Amino acid sequence: MSDLPEDPQRRNQGSEMWSQPPISATAMMMVHGYKGVKFQNWARTYGCCPEMYYQPTSVEEIREVLALARQQNKRVKVVGGGHSPSDIACTDGFMIHMGKMNRILQVDKEKKQVTVEAGILLADLHPELDKHGLSMSNLGAVSDVTVAGVIGSGTHNTGIKHGILATQVVALTLMTADGTILECSEFSNAELFQAARVHLGCLGVILSLTLQCVPQFHLQETSFPSTLKEVLDNLDSHLKKSEYFRFLWFPHSENVSVIYQDHTNKPPFSSASWFWDYAIGFYLLEFLLWISTFLPCLVGWINRFFFWFLFTGKRENSNLSHKIFTYECRFKQHVQDWAIPREKTKEALLELKAMLEAHPKVVAHYPVEVRFTQGDDILLSPCFQRDSCYMNIIMYRPYGKDVPRLDYWLAYETIMKKVGGRPHWAKAHNCTRKDFEKMYPAFPKFCAIREKLDPSGMFLNAYLEKVFY
Ligand SMILES: Cc1cc2nc3c(=O)[nH]c(=O)nc-3n(C[C@H](O)[C@H](O)[C@H](O)COP(=O)(O)OP(=O)(O)OC[C@H]3O[C@@H](n4cnc5c(N)ncnc54)[C@H](O)[C@@H]3O)c2cc1C
Repeated sequence: MSDLPEDPQRRNQGSEMWSQPPISATAMMMVHGYKGVKFQNWARTYGCCPEMYYQPTSVEEIREVLALARQQNKRVKVVGGGHSPSDIACTDGFMIHMGKMNRILQVDKEKKQVTVEAGILLADLHPELDKHGLSMSNLGAVSDVTVAGVIGSGTHNTGIKHGILATQVVALTLMTADGTILECSEFSNAELFQAARVHLGCLGVILSLTLQCVPQFHLQETSFPSTLKEVLDNLDSHLKKSEYFRFLWFPHSENVSVIYQDHTNKPPFSSASWFWDYAIGFYLLEFLLWISTFLPCLVGWINRFFFWFLFTGKRENSNLSHKIFTYECRFKQHVQDWAIPREKTKEALLELKAMLEAHPKVVAHYPVEVRFTQGDDILLSPCFQRDSCYMNIIMYRPYGKDVPRLDYWLAYETIMKKVGGRPHWAKAHNCTRKDFEKMYPAFPKFCAIREKLDPSGMFLNAYLEKVFY
């Protein structure tokens, strides 16, 4: 049996992301390091074997790890909830897991701001905010992720009056490679603040963050069927009608499920059903998707069949906002999610549809999820200086089996690049520094900040080398 301290995130994630490691305390240090830990991300699409694994409980212990890394010329990667579908959180050097730095540090009821340690999971933050009558104004689909992790990768949801989640951060503290702690906000180290909200894990260790919250609210979710033509022809009207509007397109068909989420005073209610959501929507779907790995021509039929089965009726749910924003993602999957200028939504989707029609051998699992986000001024935010549409494509891994996706992936990326897209930092993409220089007007500014804070590249890994070299 290992004597690795209990990993608080294991409790919530329900998946074996960490192997059982043999302990190996690092001499002369207060903080214990562990050898032999294996890390796998949630989707099991990437993993790594860090040379040493640390779970610090204090800022001083983090400083010790960085000092040791400098001494031994090692690289360091901080990991949050390990939910990034790409290898952005992987390392073969030192891995710092922030699960024990997960306290709420301060709640300012008057300003509606909460200061938290960087390793807190959203799943643990929501009930605390509930107690204080507060909520985050917008959230991604899952809660087993950390505050520092979601902002670092530019996690987003939907709503034309809402930015990516990092826009809710009003201050943060960062420990840089030499152990210095920097406070950043609009009023202090403002340039660094503009960079550090989407930090990619490459500027240092985020220690704490202050979030601007809103009064607690309930949401009503209404979903109903439509067609791609109707939604694209009336996009502005849909965007105005619902605060958190998104839609799901079912590739190889005209079918769309429209989802409106709006503030409500109605008591919680749910139209969820185990039979439809699990028996049909999960177990039967996974089985049929697995069959389709032998008969890919079935995929179009599966998309149409499940739309007809599960999405042709009107469905309504209402609850506390975080219970409506988040949902259980049951399927392991490969995923790409690019942000394109909002006005390019119709052109890009119709081109993707035309590509699939012209190449019947290229198959695409449902759904393509389309969301909308307000522009911001964060240097490496995919929504930097423009209102954006995110177009999320997936290929499931039924029973862990990879389904060929290369042609779909390449065709999608070509369309995204053509319409001026920028890829989600946490998800799959094939972009390198040359692409990012074209995509991001502030890329040189971010690089200069990174090189100043981390001249030896302590916080780089294979993923980030492609971004910065
Ligand atoms: C099922 C599922 C649903 C998802 N839904 C959405 C969605 O709706 N919208 C969306 O945009 N994305 C979504 N994602 C992507 C997800 O939000 C991001 O991958 C997010 O970064 C995960 O947070 P994490 O805590 O797991 O971060 P990790 O994957 O652990 O880390 C992400 C990055 O942050 C860095 N990092 C983490 N903590 C620190 C720290 N304290 N200091 C310095 N660097 C740090 C890591 O080094 C890494 O670079 C989803 C992913 C999954 C698996």
